[in-house]
Amino acid sequence: MSRRAVAVRIEGIVQGVGFRPFVYGLATRLGLAGLVGNDERGVFIEVEGGSAPVEEFLAALTGDPPPLAVIERITTGPAPVTGRRTFAIAPSAAGGDRHALVSPDVATCDACLRDLTDPADRRCGYAFTNCTGCGPRFTIVRDVPYDRANTTMAGFRMCADCAGEYHDPGDRRFHAQPVCCPACGPSLRFDGPGGSGAAGDPLEPAVRLLREGGVLAVKGLGGYHLAALAADEPAVAALRSRKHREDKPFAVMAGDVAAARRLCVVDPAEERLLTGPARPVVLLRRLPDASVAPSVAPSVAPGNRWLGVLLPYTPLHHLLLRSLGQPIVLTSGNVSDEPIAYRDEDALERLGGIADAFLTHDRPIHIRTDDSVVRVFRGRDLPIRRSRGYVPHPLPLARAARRPVLACGAELKHTFCLVKDDRAFVSHHIGDLENYETLRSFTEGVDHFRRLFDITPEVVAHDLHPDYLSTKWALDQDADLVGVQHHHAHIASCLADNGVAGPVAGVAFDGLGYGSDGTLWGGEFLVADLAGFERAGHLAPVPMPGGATAIRQPWRMAAAYLDLAYDGDVPEDLDVVRRNAGQWAAVVALARRGVNAPLTSSMGRLFDAVAAVAGVRDAITYEGQAAVEFEQLADPAVDDAYPCGLVSAGTRFAVPGVELVRAVADDLRACVPRDVVAARFHNAVARVVADGCILVRKACGLSTVALSGGVFQNLLLLGRAVTLLEERGFTVLTHHRVPPNDGGVSLGQAAVAAAAMAANSPIRGVRRELSQARHTWFGGMSETGT
Ligand SMILES: [Zn+2]
Ligand SMILES: [Zn+2]
Repeated sequence: MSRRAVAVRIEGIVQGVGFRPFVYGLATRLGLAGLVGNDERGVFIEVEGGSAPVEEFLAALTGDPPPLAVIERITTGPAPVTGRRTFAIAPSAAGGDRHALVSPDVATCDACLRDLTDPADRRCGYAFTNCTGCGPRFTIVRDVPYDRANTTMAGFRMCADCAGEYHDPGDRRFHAQPVCCPACGPSLRFDGPGGSGAAGDPLEPAVRLLREGGVLAVKGLGGYHLAALAADEPAVAALRSRKHREDKPFAVMAGDVAAARRLCVVDPAEERLLTGPARPVVLLRRLPDASVAPSVAPSVAPGNRWLGVLLPYTPLHHLLLRSLGQPIVLTSGNVSDEPIAYRDEDALERLGGIADAFLTHDRPIHIRTDDSVVRVFRGRDLPIRRSRGYVPHPLPLARAARRPVLACGAELKHTFCLVKDDRAFVSHHIGDLENYETLRSFTEGVDHFRRLFDITPEVVAHDLHPDYLSTKWALDQDADLVGVQHHHAHIASCLADNGVAGPVAGVAFDGLGYGSDGTLWGGEFLVADLAGFERAGHLAPVPMPGGATAIRQPWRMAAAYLDLAYDGDVPEDLDVVRRNAGQWAAVVALARRGVNAPLTSSMGRLFDAVAAVAGVRDAITYEGQAAVEFEQLADPAVDDAYPCGLVSAGTRFAVPGVELVRAVADDLRACVPRDVVAARFHNAVARVVADGCILVRKACGLSTVALSGGVFQNLLLLGRAVTLLEERGFTVLTHHRVPPNDGGVSLGQAAVAAAAMAANSPIRGVRRELSQARHTWFGGMSETGT
């Protein structure tokens, strides 16, 4: 029988996920000889034996890889037949190139859970149990290659038992870098009143403290959390007040899916997310209070129909939840909007005034990583925050970058993105880039990613807003700079998210972004591809009286809009006028004079205005609060909408938001219920989306639409807009891998920069079509019925 030898190279997430034991087991089962090893590019294999078993081996490699492996590229070629008889695992070799990918952190697997609860297992009750299929990864990696010496486990010397497992190719823990046990690994510690437990188990006093209504700081994978019993109103209220978090909902950790179902509706897609290896916070529809047992205290998510729920993702969480037997609030360990604490001394200092005690341990966290947050939209993921469990898994770009790119992101919900070839590494959630602490997280994060993925950026992409710290930092870099308009970046991120290059009709609705003309945009219809864009239409600009103050006080937007809507003669019987009578005239004067009242075409500000008019809220304590609450007010059974005809504005069309505000105010004065008003407004904005896209299709022939921007986190609006567009024959792109909010902007900037380097940008063709179309632009109006 003729022998055959093949060399195989596999790239992707193939290290630290049990790939070599899988290859070893497969080859030995098929009676093949050769070797498998890790290097800086991934996994290499040489395999030899009979032709048929070699074929079978190659098929099984891609057909049935380990569950956590992500094979990006597999190449095979002939190799010399050596006549060797055994299969071996080659020792890791250090090399120059550092392509090997670091895996995201992975939730505790079922096998480790069994170890954790098996009284006969030496890891029974051990809070740091992990294996090749689960455990900390990104948060403990200091450098590549991914070896124990390059992780924060370097200081823990393996005992003989763990070393035996680590070196046994047949063992589940073969080359699991964080492998450890009670004899050799990290240990838990309880710091607080009562000291450690009677049996020396730190869990005991921690559980007792929570049961007695205390607030507990718990060291997790990517930082410290603050915990309290979810059903304990005084404890949750205390946590809220000490943390200076007024209204923003807390997430709840439930012991398992059954426990989550006692709080919320969980559909199959949501269950898949809740129990998957990434374990994000999943936003779920709450059950009516009557059927909730044990209940969730009112302060957990005040006035919210949705609840953020996550399941345990470390052995420590499993042990804690099992002992408690009831859900806990689990929220970032920080004060207000500061970054989450992850270094022990820093946590003690910053959380000392919030937590009554600390449940901590001695395995260092190398990089701060917040929990991810995801919603499900039509059975697919809609990320709100992409961080732990997802980062640093790269996203593929439709067009490879000729030179390495660093995209610096925007400001709020900040992320950055590094690109090499066709791989985009979007960072973990950095936070709101508004102070020194987050700026340092950003720059340290960039350094870490550069090292991990061996990327030296030659091109730096940034927002156009001159006051963003990310822009200022970018302008200081010694690299070629690419300024990317904020809403173009949103649309490009949606294209990159979907792996397409455009051109599309892009609808970017968000809070604010710096426009190419120096005004504040945010209700934009763009004709865009990755390389460029034209502004096709937008919300008609209105003044923002007091600038940033108007963001925190939505009633100011109501004043500006109502003044325009009623031509200076606002009906005084409107509640929003009465409630703010003291300052109303001054704010209207500010808007009219245009001093400290920048013009904006922001859809987020229109939602604010309408929410204030409808009495939802005059001032907010977190970003987007008025719009979030306004969405929940809407009655989904209402189908009719306020009319809003698009109007010509030079070469573009404009959306007269004042018409919608007037319609809302008139309805309220006629005592139409607020839930009907909120629904009619949502439906109207969805129709505006569809009508605008029809105009763009008439002018440019584009029948694919990309929806992006933070406003599209609103599921009612998103659902209605997608339905209307699909009914009208559009293909609709929405977000599935990066958030529609500013957390996705860095990917968009990176995709734009990569496309800008390409020699033949298809945007040129689109621009020509656009200029030809301009004089017929409003010939398309008839289809919208205006
Ligand atoms: Zn495991
Ligand atoms: Zn050990």
